[in-house]
Amino acid sequence: MSEARLGPHVLVVSEVDGKRWHVIECPGVTDACRAWVDCPQRDEEHNDDALEDDPVAHGVEHRWIDGDWMVRTDDCLVRTHMYAGEIAAELNLPPGRHPVGHDFGDGTEYELSVLDPAGAVP
Ligand SMILES: [Zn+2]
Ligand SMILES: [Zn+2]
Repeated sequence: MSEARLGPHVLVVSEVDGKRWHVIECPGVTDACRAWVDCPQRDEEHNDDALEDDPVAHGVEHRWIDGDWMVRTDDCLVRTHMYAGEIAAELNLPPGRHPVGHDFGDGTEYELSVLDPAGAVP
């Protein structure tokens, strides 16, 4: 399956007793939204120079993000990001299903943007 065929993430806004709830649905985790976490193996497993040439150590691909070696997970960071709920709420959308785009910047930021109603990516 081509990753390009997947639809956008969808922000589902619901209202219960005057309180809004925000849940983000992931169309399928790809490298565009994959969450990376601190590698649980500590520094002695990581030769920085070698990892820059070949990002595989102890059999796992690594990425240097925000000052640490990270390893991939199968979780969606758009959905699980610590600020996801807060930033979704700031969009102040009415109840319903809203296709959203995301931007992680250099890996340390998190932005959500509302796509147009047709779901086209700007
Ligand atoms: Zn996702
Ligand atoms: Zn590691």
